[in-house]
Amino acid sequence: MAHATIDRFEDGRRWTQAYELELPPQSTVLDLLFEIQQRLDQTLSFRYSCRNWMCGSCGMLVNGREQLACRTRLSDLEAPVVQIAPLRNLPVVKDLIVDLAPFFEKWNKVGVAFPDQRKKPIPNSPKTQHAIDAHSDCITCGLCYSACDVLSHAADFLGPAALNRAYTLQIDARDIAHNERGATIAADGGAFRCHSMGQCTNVCPKGLDPLAAIAALKRGA
Ligand code: SF4
Repeated sequence: MAHATIDRFEDGRRWTQAYELELPPQSTVLDLLFEIQQRLDQTLSFRYSCRNWMCGSCGMLVNGREQLACRTRLSDLEAPVVQIAPLRNLPVVKDLIVDLAPFFEKWNKVGVAFPDQRKKPIPNSPKTQHAIDAHSDCITCGLCYSACDVLSHAADFLGPAALNRAYTLQIDARDIAHNERGATIAADGGAFRCHSMGQCTNVCPKGLDPLAAIAALKRGA
């Protein structure tokens, strides 16, 4: 028997709802949510897509820690009750669905895509390309954004994912906007707001290290 509590939110009302249901032992948190939605409570809202750790859609708090629901097995949670809540540092739309607009506004602020970037075909050295690759698998799940303590009290901070992305562009020889982006990185809300607590790196489901990327940006600024 699985026991779960879910933080609910709808039309300005917040409450915590408890559920009990039978599930196979290897079920994931996403399986649990589907079972609840299909058998017990059709009003429960959550976001998902690929179910395979690829899309970054099903990020949420599971027992207080940022996780992808599709990746998290109930059998791996050492607690009698699964406590599920929406990600932090982002507005809640309904139940477990958060508005990722602030996250993507900051992602875009570091100049994620410059139209003529690829007109400059200067190859990176193998060492540089390796460094870029090591920080390039971000699936924009927002787990690091939720886990970041600085963002809980400084909403203008760019956050780990955007700065991790900025790092890959700043060291890329093909990029043409180093100066412009560098000013954003060095400004208020940029890399120097990071207090190096490292929660971003601890929760990243892709094994990226935004903390190291931010440290490198600080050194380069
Ligand atoms: Fe998710 Fe990691 Fe990208 Fe942060 S850096 S958004 S935790 S994949």
